[in-house]
Amino acid sequence: MRDNSSILPLLSTIGPFNEVPDEYNAEDSLNALKTSKVLVIGAGGLGCEILKNLALTGFKNIDIIDMDTIDLSNLNRQFLFRREDIGKSKAEVATQFILNRIEDPDLKINPYFGKIQDKSIEYYQQFQVIISGLDSIEARRWINATLIGLVDNDVLIPLVDGGTEGFRGQSRVIIPTITSCFECSLDLLSAKVTYPVCTIANTPRLPEHCIEWASQLEWVKTFPGKKFDADDMVQVEWMYQTALSRAKEFNIDGVTKALTLGVVKNIIPAIASTNAIIAASCCNEAFKLVTNSNPILNNYMMYTGDDSIHTYTYEHSKKSNCAVCGNLAKNVTAQNWWTLSQFIDEISSKQEVQMLKPSLTTSQRYLYLTNPPELEKVTKENLSKKLSTLISPGEEIVVTDPSLPISLRLIVSFEGGETDPEFA
Ligand SMILES: [Zn+2]
Repeated sequence: MRDNSSILPLLSTIGPFNEVPDEYNAEDSLNALKTSKVLVIGAGGLGCEILKNLALTGFKNIDIIDMDTIDLSNLNRQFLFRREDIGKSKAEVATQFILNRIEDPDLKINPYFGKIQDKSIEYYQQFQVIISGLDSIEARRWINATLIGLVDNDVLIPLVDGGTEGFRGQSRVIIPTITSCFECSLDLLSAKVTYPVCTIANTPRLPEHCIEWASQLEWVKTFPGKKFDADDMVQVEWMYQTALSRAKEFNIDGVTKALTLGVVKNIIPAIASTNAIIAASCCNEAFKLVTNSNPILNNYMMYTGDDSIHTYTYEHSKKSNCAVCGNLAKNVTAQNWWTLSQFIDEISSKQEVQMLKPSLTTSQRYLYLTNPPELEKVTKENLSKKLSTLISPGEEIVVTDPSLPISLRLIVSFEGGETDPEFA
């Protein structure tokens, strides 16, 4: 059985950088550690490390959420999983492993096998701190926007966000509405090309659009419930042929088997030591937030291990035109010759927007709605119209996406000629 003897020295004396030593009480800190509830989002590479660290640090009430099951390729770094766990829930197996290993009757870990979006706002309100160790940008945007929305209910829950990519990683502390938020820094993430579904479905122009059509739309339709396996040559061939016939239909060149593999695989490399370093930093921050033993990270730490070893900490600033924590609209420039469809392509692939199913409205009219289907049908005809005929200069467009609790405000100004210079 374990006790908290390992952390007692930390708590018996005040941290050397604590700015309010008079208010610090070691007893209170220890109690806070034992009674506070912490949520871990993600039970993968970072999540396994985070869960282990929290349990060994002395946190007693931990929830962990992950929608994924264990895959063979996870086992080299997601060290709470074994070969016989393949196919089982990551959150559940990780929980059981930690509970078996750390025999502490006071330690409670509550796993949830599913999406963070399944849980209610009330569920999130119970936590003193939330740590995310996710590779999904969409899920991180969702939890960020949700926690910032909670400030309206007078609930302030800090979010500690960790992320890794190969030898690089970052950890940061987000205090909703006070520090910069995840959405403020969307442009810092390494670029991943995304294509809006309306383009893929209606107006493909690039070979990649055809491959995405095969993988995002046709695969699901043809093989409902079946996960695509990029290592299965028969399945890859199906994907390639399906994309190729789509490309022929729209006179698009360039669909090859190599490109097909490149688009559908989209593998993010993962390195165990990077995960360990970033998870350690995240858990340090959670510990300090709960115990008040030392000042928290302000607010962004970057780590690189590929070019020697280097860390850099700085204060990332809030953006006044952030779609989540800011109050100003973003200014964008459109070409006079752009159709609505081209405009949607341009803005949704922007680093700071990244929306897959954007719906666009103005205060006067619906420009394009992805849902419900009846309105999609009606507004679809706008896609081929020139944007400049649909809105007036300076008019505000509100962009929403069903997967994100965010509405983005854009003010469009126009420039350039009336016709596409490529065809002029
Ligand atoms: Zn923000």
